[in-house]
Amino acid sequence: MADKRKASWGSGELYDLLCLMMLGTCVWLLGVQLGAFRSLDRLIIEHNLADLFKLGFFMGLGAVAASASKSLRLRRAMRERDAAEARAAETARHDPLTGLANRRLFAERLDERRAGGSGGRLSVFVVDLDRFKPVNELYGYEAGNAVLRAVGERLVRTLPAESTVARLDGDEFAALVESGPGGEGLARLAQGLIAALSAPVTWLGHEIKVGATVGIAAAGPEAGSAQAVLHAADLAMGQGKRDGRGTYRVFESAMDEALKARARLEADLRVAIDAGQIEPYYQPVVALPGQTVTGFEVLARWRHPEHGLLMPSAFIPVAEETGMIGDLSYLILRRACLDARAWPNHLQLAVNIAPQQFQDSELALRILAILTETGFQAHRLEVEITETAIVQDLEATRATLGALQALGVRVALDDFGTGYSSLYHLRELRFDKLKIDRSYVDSIAEDHERAKLVDAIIKLGNSLGLVTTAEGIETKTSVDWLASQGCDFGQGYLFGKPMPRAEIDRRLNEGLLDTGPVAPKRDAVSKPVLIEKIEKAA
Ligand code: C2E
Ligand code: MG
Ligand code: MG
Repeated sequence: MADKRKASWGSGELYDLLCLMMLGTCVWLLGVQLGAFRSLDRLIIEHNLADLFKLGFFMGLGAVAASASKSLRLRRAMRERDAAEARAAETARHDPLTGLANRRLFAERLDERRAGGSGGRLSVFVVDLDRFKPVNELYGYEAGNAVLRAVGERLVRTLPAESTVARLDGDEFAALVESGPGGEGLARLAQGLIAALSAPVTWLGHEIKVGATVGIAAAGPEAGSAQAVLHAADLAMGQGKRDGRGTYRVFESAMDEALKARARLEADLRVAIDAGQIEPYYQPVVALPGQTVTGFEVLARWRHPEHGLLMPSAFIPVAEETGMIGDLSYLILRRACLDARAWPNHLQLAVNIAPQQFQDSELALRILAILTETGFQAHRLEVEITETAIVQDLEATRATLGALQALGVRVALDDFGTGYSSLYHLRELRFDKLKIDRSYVDSIAEDHERAKLVDAIIKLGNSLGLVTTAEGIETKTSVDWLASQGCDFGQGYLFGKPMPRAEIDRRLNEGLLDTGPVAPKRDAVSKPVLIEKIEKAA
């Protein structure tokens, strides 16, 4: 494009020069015809002015040459400026890494194609890579960039020639595809894309594998603005991710409704945390075989002003995804520590801590602040984490675990048997307790294989010096069997469902909870000593 421009400028200049010469020639011819130069010739001869005229002629020629050169320089500068502008415009519309269109150019192309009347046959694909983050983490950014470039090339190769392919953001790509009537062609195309992007990328001898999830939205006139179409395809892609990745979904209006409901839930949850609508419920934990209550697991409930009492599954995942889980958990812990002040002081509290919180290097200090503020002793507190926390970052988990244990807080591995259940984790990290997941416990009576597994977990715990708690005990048969296998603690509906503080108060006052003999009081350790311990552990 820049070369074409150069050629047209050169011929333009020549044309201007020729025009001026023609004009001069015409004036000269006219002057000769009319005899206008005769008196001038006479004057030159009579006064001997030939040299003066020659001087004037050459000075004029010099002036013309100078002005021509200036004009040439000016034109060159303009040409360079135009080329730079064109380059800047190109850069502003393209992704520098893959050379594909960027979000802005993609939206412009979409608008152009729809204005051109082909909107009815156009579809937008949003393609998001699966498992891309670990590529950067494992191999570094150079490898990540190589994968993104390969993905760009494969998209261009796989899609029809007239499609516009763009990189929207990070590992998110989009394509504007013209399709025939019916959704079959689109489905085939989406499957082809997923297959092409799932093939490994070779980088410095490594075979790097990512996958892709695709969202498709029709770009017809009823679909709203270019942004709205992209948003719709993005929603469909999000649905694909939730449905298990490596798949494609076509946008349906119900997805929009679901998203709006989710946004409302997030806003409501923020208000609920600030307004103290999230409250702790307490489920008894008993020692086996005697079944005396040794403490409670603290479980969050949301007393929603419109929907009544909501269970954790309705809001804990949202709190985790939006980063509200920290505020929520500290609120629950503070309230539980305050509630427990009214109960016999040998009773323990177990709180659930989300995996993200375990990556927070300040977790132990935050918990210490709450313990100090509420006067609840650290040795009465147990923190429950799941294996998801460990696999996210083993080193961060190790540091937090050490800091908590230095405080005197015990750490339990929750839902054991459902996650990775890796012996490596148990060997690498020093837990105090294993909580055997409910799914194992509730089937021990009927399922012999399951029972054998539970037995093996109890023995494993014992051999590693860990105490074990069985969750979800609902029958007397189960508890008797678990106790006979050496399980140390039990929790389940058989001993009590999660209940509000008032109910625990009532049962304690009426002697309905056997809390056993009161344990001797331990000496409280001062806060500065505890901080020193945390720092040493970290
Ligand atoms: P979890 O920590 O494994 O808690 C045990 C769950 O099993 C509780 O469900 C409890 O009500 C239920 N359960 C206990 N015994 C029985 C039984 O005999 N039968 C049956 N069917 N269920 C029993 P809940 O309260 O719905 O909590 C579910 C999960 O939500 C918890 O699993 C925990 O992972 C999470 N959660 C609850 N509160 C919090 C919180 O404050 N913070 C965080 N991060 N997670 C929480
Ligand atoms: Mg738990
Ligand atoms: Mg559990």
